Amino acid sequence: MLVVMTVGATREEIAEVIATIEGQGLKAHPIPGAQRVAIGITGNRDVVNSALFENLPGVLEVIRVSNPYKLVSREAKAEDTVVRVGGVPVGGGHFAVMAGPCSVESEEQTLTIARAVRAAGAHILRGGAFKPRTSPYSFQGLGKRGLEILSQVSREVGLPVVTEALDERSLELVVEYADMIQIGTRNMQNYSLLRRCGEARKPVLLKRGMAATVEELLMAAEYVLAEGNYQVVLCERGIRTFTDHTRNTLDLAAVVAVQRLSHLPIIVDPSHATGRRNKVIPLARAAAAAGADGVMVEVHHDPARALSDGSQSILPEELGQLMWQLPTILPLTGRAMAQPLAVSA
Ligand code: PEP
Ligand code: MN
Repeated sequence: MLVVMTVGATREEIAEVIATIEGQGLKAHPIPGAQRVAIGITGNRDVVNSALFENLPGVLEVIRVSNPYKLVSREAKAEDTVVRVGGVPVGGGHFAVMAGPCSVESEEQTLTIARAVRAAGAHILRGGAFKPRTSPYSFQGLGKRGLEILSQVSREVGLPVVTEALDERSLELVVEYADMIQIGTRNMQNYSLLRRCGEARKPVLLKRGMAATVEELLMAAEYVLAEGNYQVVLCERGIRTFTDHTRNTLDLAAVVAVQRLSHLPIIVDPSHATGRRNKVIPLARAAAAAGADGVMVEVHHDPARALSDGSQSILPEELGQLMWQLPTILPLTGRAMAQPLAVSA
């Protein structure tokens, strides 16, 4: 349920609605909009009695949200959410490029790639320290040491960092060292982990499960918002189909579908979607043309020697080429490149 306040509702009137919600043992989620505040109600098992709120001062109307997802829905908030990642805006017209290696392999490798990514004009550095590998015998990431490298490199090049948390233990470390928590495709429906992300005070990049519907993706995001963390960026990274010319199938229609249903930003990862270097740039361009709020791409200066996902990592000069092409496409969807942070001295 959603309590919509009038345009001129006062702070006290909003506080009274929140107190009434909490007095029922429920959770109140004030959602500021451009015009007015709406207050989402969660935590109810039965139908909430709307008469409790309808006659409170400053209340315009009480709406029953028809979707299973509530806080993430456009009904709850009509305007696009802008998520800030260490100062870089994502969504609401700001197109962000997240780029970097699949895995943090060493200090030298991460610094080399981060410098190249920064020089190309990308906004956020990616790199995995905890790697969810199909085989237990493959490189599993450097763990805490990887996070230390990422945080040091982040300061050195002046880019915020997004990195994956695999479980509750690694989440604590990721929150400590990184600017954004990545929840990967294999964990999209790890509800206890999502709840912990909801308690964290860092933005979350939530990747679509490889066999998840758009509704399941939005319900996963709802877990994070329901715990009070509204800073969530969704990511379409390809889904499993019968094709064998790509690793997964990029579902660009999901971007359009999500944007109709939800106010949260959605970006596209053409690297994991295709698994092939030669397909990454064309599909990154397609993502921008479809109206995505950003892309995440894997970049490596020596992909043949990469410890993971070398075959889908583009070269730094290819990233430069993409960064140069994107501004031609973005105006078509009313977007512009997010402004990169100034390099700190
Ligand atoms: C990644 O981005 O490093 C990753 C493992 O992606 P996904 O969860 O989409 O497979
Ligand atoms: Mn990867």
